[in-house]
Amino acid sequence: RADAAALRAVRKSHKLAEVCYDIRGPVLQRAKQMEDEGHRVTKLNIGNLAHFGFEAPEEIVVDVIHNLRGAAGYSDSKGLFSARKAVMHYSQQKKIAGVGIEDIYIGNGASELIVMSMQALLNNGDEVLVPAPDYPLWTAAVSLGGGAPVHYVCDEQAGWLPDLDDIRRKLTPNTRAIVIINPNNPTGALYPTAFLEQLLEIARQHQLIVFADEIYDKVLYDGETHTSIASLADDVLCVTFNGLSKNYRACGYRAGWMIVSGEKRHARDYIEGLDMLASMRLCANVPAQWGIQTALGGYQSIEELIAPDGRLTRQRDLAYELITQIPGVSCVKPKAALYLFPKLDLNMYPIEDDQEFILKLLEAEKVLLVQGSGFNWKQPDHFRLVFLPHEEDLRDAVSRIARFLESYRKG
Ligand code: PLP
Repeated sequence: RADAAALRAVRKSHKLAEVCYDIRGPVLQRAKQMEDEGHRVTKLNIGNLAHFGFEAPEEIVVDVIHNLRGAAGYSDSKGLFSARKAVMHYSQQKKIAGVGIEDIYIGNGASELIVMSMQALLNNGDEVLVPAPDYPLWTAAVSLGGGAPVHYVCDEQAGWLPDLDDIRRKLTPNTRAIVIINPNNPTGALYPTAFLEQLLEIARQHQLIVFADEIYDKVLYDGETHTSIASLADDVLCVTFNGLSKNYRACGYRAGWMIVSGEKRHARDYIEGLDMLASMRLCANVPAQWGIQTALGGYQSIEELIAPDGRLTRQRDLAYELITQIPGVSCVKPKAALYLFPKLDLNMYPIEDDQEFILKLLEAEKVLLVQGSGFNWKQPDHFRLVFLPHEEDLRDAVSRIARFLESYRKG
């Protein structure tokens, strides 16, 4: 046996150098360790609806079970016909023009397709504009694909809308695409149509592909409606992502989709690349694909939960009210999705390393949040809170956060 010191270190690939996914990072590891030690940790870190008693609609579950026996074989690489047909109808409802079955790919969650869409596109040196803050898979997928993520700022003062001037400043001859997350995770922002049109104009002028992550497009409060950016232009190449995870509370099924629309004539080669990657992974989880048609064809979405007195609306209102009562904490009220992204006044709370801050909070109060830097937010002054727990648990968790901040302020 060789001496340990003589063994050549097995290192992760350089492609992972810029990849981070702190939502399931070191702080979560510490939380798990604390649970193993017998502590009860309140987890406000992940948008996992099922863990908080938001069950997947019965009809979807029944249909997945019903089809389970026949679902042991591979499907077409791009997905079952019935699932893709249902997504095609959904894109018609969303007014995305000219989408046929061949423009639709079913994946193991939107996540797999996000990674695939970047792998198929990028060469070294290619740049992709990604929002800050972002859902960190996007930054990671660009890096893993060999590209360079370039972050454009979303402006908290403007309700977290992307700053169009910042986007223009960050364009270079190497910019290939722009990512928008609408409705947004982590900020809860929902982008108005006029804004989407301005963004499309930039994409049109600079021949950028628009990657639109719309996984929360039904999780909308206060009667808001969602517009798919792809519905506003048939002369820009758009790739739209969605799935069963959030709207249908079935994230464990790993069922998502991707729709290629708009100007495709110059994108044959890219589409060939997507087809190739879809074939290489054979197909997405087939049992879950049987739930897609049922989900999109029925009435079992999220309406009841987002009604004015629905559970999600009540929890959003409560979490917002309680968190903004804490001195030195402000927050843009989310119009959509499942999260608050509050700001801490650094004059009051002198945080230098937000991961360390969140770790101290966890150890002191057994409440698990995610630090803003986990969403590629550069200042150590934000965190993300998931408002999925019941009202009583939310009250308890936010009062613990308040108590921790009070002691942090006093040093
Ligand atoms: N996109 C956003 C903005 C998300 O918040 C998430 C999950 O939290 C995903 C994509 C991943 O979705 P899926 O479960 O379909 O992989």
